[in-house]
Amino acid sequence: MEAEDKTPDPAFEDIHLACIECGVPFVFTAGEQQFFFDKGLKNPPKRCKPCKTRKNERFNQLLSMMATDGSRPRIQVEVECAECGIQTTVPFLPTQGRPVLCRDCFVRARVAVPVCAKPVVKYLPPTAA
Ligand SMILES: [Zn+2]
Ligand SMILES: [Zn+2]
Repeated sequence: MEAEDKTPDPAFEDIHLACIECGVPFVFTAGEQQFFFDKGLKNPPKRCKPCKTRKNERFNQLLSMMATDGSRPRIQVEVECAECGIQTTVPFLPTQGRPVLCRDCFVRARVAVPVCAKPVVKYLPPTAA
């Protein structure tokens, strides 16, 4: 049967993906795939680097806004369920680095999932006074 030694890592090759935000093709490099593999991430990146950077900037902007301004903006945060990978929304800012689960998975499994949440923050129109 199988010996104690680890199965060799699969050989990675650069993959060309299209950014879901701007549609521009980008390369999911072998090195990045190795990184994802090591982290146990199953879903390949969906955005090119510029879009990812812009998304993070928006997120940080919102964070600082919430920190300085006492009034909490109504937000809808799009996150990818760390468990099943489906897109779901939550009305709060998930802690960065913490896995976010969709309702189903949250109810089903309350175990730690070593996957980072990938939040997409959207501003909602303010509620009418
Ligand atoms: Zn893009
Ligand atoms: Zn889920």
